[in-house]
Amino acid sequence: AVSIRNVWKDYDGQVVLENISFDVAPHSFVSLVGPSGCGKSTFLRMLLSQEAPSRGEIRVEGEPLASEPMPDRGMVFQKYSVYPHLTALENVALGLELERSPLLGRLFGARRRAVLEEAAAGLEAVGLAPARDKYPSQLSGGMQQRLAIAQALIKKPRILLLDEPFGALDPGIRADIHDLMLDLWWNTKMTVFMVSHDLREAFYLGTRVIAFDRTRTRPEEQAAYGATITFDIPLDPADPIKA
Ligand code: ATP
Ligand code: MG
Repeated sequence: AVSIRNVWKDYDGQVVLENISFDVAPHSFVSLVGPSGCGKSTFLRMLLSQEAPSRGEIRVEGEPLASEPMPDRGMVFQKYSVYPHLTALENVALGLELERSPLLGRLFGARRRAVLEEAAAGLEAVGLAPARDKYPSQLSGGMQQRLAIAQALIKKPRILLLDEPFGALDPGIRADIHDLMLDLWWNTKMTVFMVSHDLREAFYLGTRVIAFDRTRTRPEEQAAYGATITFDIPLDPADPIKA
């Protein structure tokens, strides 16, 4: 479970997120929508512990967020999630190598073979087994995003953060990757937060849609900024809004 309590975020006095609170049940798929600049990516970065709230608190399983990026999170962006100089297999293996050999970032012998086997299984799970020795530039956009997903999932994160992951893909490719995403989410029981500008995608994938919007509550601040409020649209009766 993830609990967001009275979270504010400002940059040099400019309020971006204003008093956001909601609770997310385990194994939810939360779609985050809202206009450009309303703070969606900022919010994901806080869940990733890349940034701290200015005020308020985010807890995961009752624990306050650590100040450094956590191994139980995975992240996928619209682009540039994978390393261009590594093959598909190496991209997925890298996370495991860094985890198991933090100093060298490299394993040898049987330990390396074990990691490569795990990575190969991770590629297979996203339908990329045949592309294991290809470089990202040799893959289509959809395949690159599958690779990014495999890379994000290899350490079996409990929370997956997706920042417009399918925004650049053609509709047909998107439909395939949507179904893959639903499969992976359902089978892993992870909690997903996905930012999307596509409302149909948000409602198709989400068990819940949270809309971020601008609000200008104090007249003297209206000209200066608009902070973000949320509207919560629960789609799944198993995941009701908690008071
Ligand atoms: P988009 O849909 O365009 O991706 P977003 O909802 O993801 O937008 P954010 O990227 O979170 O929006 O940005 C929210 C606001 O915070 C913007 O006004 C942005 O300029 C500001 N902002 C984000 N990061 C920083 C930063 N590191 N320093 C200062 N301001 C920032
Ligand atoms: Mg963004």
